Amino acid sequence: MSKGTINILQLYPREMNIYGDWGNVLVLKQRLVWHGYDANILEHNADGEFPADVDLIVGGGGQDSGQIVIQQDLQLIAPHLRALAKDGMPMLIICGLYQLFGNYFKTHDGTVIPGIGVLDLETHGGTERLIGNVVASSDEFGDVHGYENHSGQTFLGPGLRPLAVVSKGEGNNSKENHEGARHLNIVASYLHGSLLPKNPAIADFLLEKAVTRKYGSFEPGDVDDSLAELARQHAGSRPR
Ligand code: GLN
Repeated sequence: MSKGTINILQLYPREMNIYGDWGNVLVLKQRLVWHGYDANILEHNADGEFPADVDLIVGGGGQDSGQIVIQQDLQLIAPHLRALAKDGMPMLIICGLYQLFGNYFKTHDGTVIPGIGVLDLETHGGTERLIGNVVASSDEFGDVHGYENHSGQTFLGPGLRPLAVVSKGEGNNSKENHEGARHLNIVASYLHGSLLPKNPAIADFLLEKAVTRKYGSFEPGDVDDSLAELARQHAGSRPR
């Protein structure tokens, strides 16, 4: 018998979903099933209604042009997203939406795309693209593995902590060795690949928060992560 149902909302799957980011939703869904829960996948698109019953929010990356397409709608739902974040909603926010969850993204041609201020950070588009495999170490999640491809250079405000410290690759910017951001129950990162198949500890963190928030407690199942472990080892041995 199912222990409950978690509603996973993907933000802007048409515009903000590159380098396999949709895989994050598939991992969350499959791990819920392995833990004995059901998953229901919802979408929010520009010009659509924001679903009422949401337990976990996933946002992906996108080109600058996609970020411009969704910016108006994102501002419309911003107060709701800020309230949900404060209320402990778990969120996984990758690359293009990571930038827009900050204060603003100024692209390389000077266009300013306003952010929604959930995360105190700012991003400046550069001429150089930061591309390649990344390994970064997190106190909460161990080694984090993924793939970055962005021109934005992101700088965190003084009160915001990075998700991880980079040992291979660039991460948030080419000056510091920070990758991503951690705030409330939000995990934000530049890493695609997708991120979650190679980082089940992050997937289970998000699921634990979602299930506990809805049902009061999370009863994990017995999940065999030997394939994820192989993928992590392989990812860690790849060149930049
Ligand atoms: N357009 C943004 C940049 O290049 C985000 C790219 C992405 O999501 N991969 O910085």
